[in-house]
Amino acid sequence: MRVFIGLLLILSVLRASAFSMEYDSNVPDFLKKQVEEDIRFVDSIRKSRDSGLHSRMFANSGQGGYRKWFDARVSFFGYGDCGGSNRAVACVLGRNDRKIWVTKNYVEIEHPQVARVMTLFHEARHTEGDRRNWPHSRCSILYKQDSIWTGNPLRWRFACDRTEYGSYGLASVLLNNVARFCMNCSEKVRLDADIYSNDQILRITRRSAFLRIRRDFME
Ligand SMILES: [Zn+2]
Repeated sequence: MRVFIGLLLILSVLRASAFSMEYDSNVPDFLKKQVEEDIRFVDSIRKSRDSGLHSRMFANSGQGGYRKWFDARVSFFGYGDCGGSNRAVACVLGRNDRKIWVTKNYVEIEHPQVARVMTLFHEARHTEGDRRNWPHSRCSILYKQDSIWTGNPLRWRFACDRTEYGSYGLASVLLNNVARFCMNCSEKVRLDADIYSNDQILRITRRSAFLRIRRDFME
């Protein structure tokens, strides 16, 4: 009986950690491993609480439910050039295909784990075809921020959002909650989360939406 229960436990742990993502054949093994470690990491996060916006964005995903939220949106993973621009880091191309792509900028430019998670969740948001994939708006010609990932200037590029619920807002709120409420993250993870969250919020260019996130960061 004890052996049987032990076996059941092992099987349920294996099931919980099994990845259902399908990778294109050109995705290198190290990248698959990295993505799966990153998702496992985000799944391990335990927080003392969630902010209001976080609760709305990740409704029903519950404590430790990031994995569930991600798996509900992403089933396929590709490695390519996202339509030929050498500035892209990652993208979703089709409207309803549950597939995210990363480029060589994602692979070759080193960023902390929590920043990779930010990008994966940003793209996962873009798979929501019923919300027109949360398209970006054009940053103004006077926009001063450069991409924290590539260092490229963002002025006049479709790299801003006017709503707090799009990919930038979602990733920013996610990381801000990790920075403030994660109970089992290292100091480095929380600091990284804070840095990237404070960068991504700057992509929200409609003042009212920006302020709603700012307020959420302080609540
Ligand atoms: Zn995007």
